[in-house]
Amino acid sequence: MKTIRDIMVFGETVLLRVDYNVPVDAHGKVTDTARIAETKPTVDWLRQRGSKVVLLSHFGRPKGKVVEKLRFEPIVPTISKVLEGEVNYVPEAIGEKAVTTAVNHLDQGEVLLLENIRFYPGEEKNDPAFAQELAKLGDIYLNDAFGASHRAHASTVGVAALLPHGAGLLMEREVNALRKVLEQPAAPVVAIIGGAKISTKLDLIKNLLPKVDVLLLGGALANTILLAQGKKVGQSLVEADLAKTVTGLLTEKLFVPEDAVVAVNEKVTAAQARTVTINGIRPDEMILDIGPRTVKRYAEQIARAKTIIWNGPMGMFERKPFAEGTFALARAVADATTNGAYSVLGGGETVSAIHVVGLADKVSFISTGGGAMLEFMEGKQLPGIEALN
Ligand code: ADP
Ligand code: MG
Repeated sequence: MKTIRDIMVFGETVLLRVDYNVPVDAHGKVTDTARIAETKPTVDWLRQRGSKVVLLSHFGRPKGKVVEKLRFEPIVPTISKVLEGEVNYVPEAIGEKAVTTAVNHLDQGEVLLLENIRFYPGEEKNDPAFAQELAKLGDIYLNDAFGASHRAHASTVGVAALLPHGAGLLMEREVNALRKVLEQPAAPVVAIIGGAKISTKLDLIKNLLPKVDVLLLGGALANTILLAQGKKVGQSLVEADLAKTVTGLLTEKLFVPEDAVVAVNEKVTAAQARTVTINGIRPDEMILDIGPRTVKRYAEQIARAKTIIWNGPMGMFERKPFAEGTFALARAVADATTNGAYSVLGGGETVSAIHVVGLADKVSFISTGGGAMLEFMEGKQLPGIEALN
């Protein structure tokens, strides 16, 4: 993978693909600016070298049409503030009239944000003519949108083939961190996998099992394994059709919960939840978190680890009575990191959990890519990364 370091940038117009698909509230206010802030080192690098920076990003899922509430305009002030410098904006992403004019008017060190790239049907189709229109706008193409690199779109793949290209500093950090844990991890390697559905994590588990010393399973996806082992899981979220498939995964490396926090539904108070051994679940109850004995056993493994990979919460941490399993393991991962382990976390809800528990700065690396991180960890080649070779 070529990077920004391999390209002599000085004064050129750089098309920089970023992932500013930020969460917004009902009033359109950005609720988390991390994705913008993470690109600042690359933008700074380019501004310092007198480049004209043209930012390209998607926002939401407009599916190839203009959707008024998915325009970038209302969040431009937020982007300017986070990047600590003026950001110009045009309400289109290609075309001679508005876009080429705006690019030509840029001074060295200035930044221009183009309109939501997914307003154009050519983007997701990776239409060559659309990629050509994008390529016309710059001299160099850089990609910092790790979160979109599992998609072969015009702004992630098509345009890369048409211009000198490389990874931005964020993309470089992501790829280095994920390669480090997959390709040359210090042993023992402990993976923690949780979350909602085992169907979305089967490829991940299969790819990681041979590479890790221990794989700790929790969250609803462990329920399907428990079911396959003949446990009675009551009303727990399961994917019963996968019970057969998951039996094939069972090895002594794979740890499953031995106790759980259960309730008749997720809306109950802490007093209405019960902690039970895995054989003690009543037919009307569901598993909503791992129990304290499981936490202890998992935390012991984490404490021994030199490399930790974590994707997926251990329970329904969004509700207080079922958050302790996830939070306790977060503390264990933070402690292990303090003691020298290298820890990498990813996944939308996993990242949100580490922020809620206040330990985001106590782990080694938090991936900004949800789906992209999963596919990378599944051992797949990501088209947006391949395109940077
Ligand atoms: P990530 O986004 O980190 O990859 P997933 O999307 O796979 O994680 O799953 C996260 C969701 O799984 C959380 O919203 C959490 O509430 C839910 N979850 C975890 N454990 C359980 C459980 N035992 N029962 C129901 N939902 C669960
Ligand atoms: Mg998720």
